[in-house]
Amino acid sequence: MIYADNAATTKMSDAAIKTLTDLLKDTYGNPSSLYEFGQKAKEVLEQARRDVADAIGAEPNEIIFTSGGSEADNQAILSAAKMGALKGKKHIISTAFEHHAVLHTLRKLEKEGYEVTYLDVHSNGLVTAEQVADAIREDTCLVTIMYANNEIGTIQPIREIGEICRSNNVTFHTDAVQAVGHIPVNVVDDNIDMLSASGHKFHGPKGVGFLYVKKGIKVFNLIEGGAQERNRRAGTENVPGIASMAAALKESVASLDSYKAKLTPIRDKIIRGIGEIPHSALNGDALSRVPSNINYCFEGIEGESLLLLLDDKGIAASSGSACTSGSLDPSHVLLAIGRIHDVAHGSLRLSLGEDITEEDADYIIKSVKEVVEYLRGFSPVWRDLVAGKKEFIL
Ligand SMILES: *Cc1c(COP(=O)(O)O)cnc(C)c1O
Repeated sequence: MIYADNAATTKMSDAAIKTLTDLLKDTYGNPSSLYEFGQKAKEVLEQARRDVADAIGAEPNEIIFTSGGSEADNQAILSAAKMGALKGKKHIISTAFEHHAVLHTLRKLEKEGYEVTYLDVHSNGLVTAEQVADAIREDTCLVTIMYANNEIGTIQPIREIGEICRSNNVTFHTDAVQAVGHIPVNVVDDNIDMLSASGHKFHGPKGVGFLYVKKGIKVFNLIEGGAQERNRRAGTENVPGIASMAAALKESVASLDSYKAKLTPIRDKIIRGIGEIPHSALNGDALSRVPSNINYCFEGIEGESLLLLLDDKGIAASSGSACTSGSLDPSHVLLAIGRIHDVAHGSLRLSLGEDITEEDADYIIKSVKEVVEYLRGFSPVWRDLVAGKKEFIL
């Protein structure tokens, strides 16, 4: 079996599993308790906070542990919106291809009277800092743009966007769930005010993540209760999960260079191999792209059948985000980069893990070619295309 759906979730690392299980057994105290059991848990929690902060160039007290990327996105956006409203600023800038944790939060704010500008994403899957500069207004309170896209893997010019935001005094949040642990991220160099990340996307456990909030920026609670996380996120901390996430992150960040060196040539080999299929197209820029991501559109194909047949061949892939599978709508990301409905339906995302081999890559290329050819063999759309009754787009 080849697991090529690491953008949906990753396998936990051995270090993360060991940290988790050891702590579940031994460190069950409540970190808010004053006796030794509690203080031991508190020490573990604060060490994890230092490790997570180090991994992104932050200070420990700038890290808020959350239940994952979605919660971090919600807290960041709702906080900045509320702060903006207090100053009479209710305009937000984002893009059309954000994760639903961002998009649905923005939709909610629109219903409450905020105005959101969704920047057009270029056909290569990138937005530019100039677009952000042009969209900023007097009443802009927040710019939220993802670091790396979860479907097509494109890496945005975050540093330049952050610079524009900083010079205009606008809070800048980035959903970095697909970037942290995969490419170098430094909140200081990148001019980031708020950043979301999630443990299970970098070999940590599910249900735990964090929000970085630059010192001096105010955030509001999503969850009311105790004074945990310096009054910014109530609820007894998931100490084993948090420490396990920190262990995974430390490891991922330490091996970023070897990860890139290993995955990039394999990714590019698969991109070239699949590219030999007629009437196919790579989605997203080939260069400004995370090392793990391959995303293709094929004409005359249903993405769902492609996945089922690849599954039969022992390859776990995706047609886009795990969150949209099960719905018949084509991916909002592919529509945002200008793919038309028919073509966006026939998409395939492969997101590689560090255990991928050259042989796996050959097998993936061969299998995708076979499956696409097989499906086209009885696709009425393909028949019309070949007969000239419909025009090829790709
Ligand atoms: C997975 C993902 C999320 C959600 O993170 P969870 O921890 O699953 O809530 C948010 N944004 C992006 C880009 C993601 O890939």
